Amino acid sequence: FEPTGPPERTYKVIFVGDAAVGKSSLIVRLSKGVFMGNLTSTLGVDFQMKSLRVDDRNIAVQLWDTAGQERFRSMTQSYFRKADGIMLVYDCTSEHSFLNVRQWMEAVGDVTTRQVPVMIMANKTDRRETARAENRQCVSTEVGEKLAKEFGALFIEVSAKTGRNVLESVVVLIRAMSATE
Ligand code: GDP
Repeated sequence: FEPTGPPERTYKVIFVGDAAVGKSSLIVRLSKGVFMGNLTSTLGVDFQMKSLRVDDRNIAVQLWDTAGQERFRSMTQSYFRKADGIMLVYDCTSEHSFLNVRQWMEAVGDVTTRQVPVMIMANKTDRRETARAENRQCVSTEVGEKLAKEFGALFIEVSAKTGRNVLESVVVLIRAMSATE
């Protein structure tokens, strides 16, 4: 996935979802290749870049966080203008964050001006066993998949901590975004 020259195409991808589901951690994992356990809420820039090579094309992806916009109603149309794709993140160890996915889908539909691919990401899969042992309500793969199917969204299970499926998620979204051009 390592690019060898300048990008042929740059995509704008916006991460949405409840506070603390791991949006910033996923963006840092993608752009810097590491997990930072103690992220401060502001990264100081609007977006991070990730360059990669997919299907013989050099692609750059702008990864936009929505820190501070973590309420459906505060999402502004201007922020979503020119968005090419959406990553809708929930925490699979927090049923509450999953139950809000429905509202996030509606909010995204309200602020995007055209049909853009949405990928629903179940994050923190590394914690699921521990969380179950603590009797926390976890969200199963099947339940996540079912909701994504209902919305016609893509679905993937990831972990910003271990890096599981994180790069893969972007590759799949890039393919979906290039298919809708
Ligand atoms: P945001 O508010 O959605 O941007 O969430 P953050 O990226 O700030 O993450 C919230 C908390 O969850 C932090 O304490 C992170 O270290 C933790 N976190 C994020 N992703 C993961 C993950 O994949 N696994 C685990 N175990 N913790 C995570």
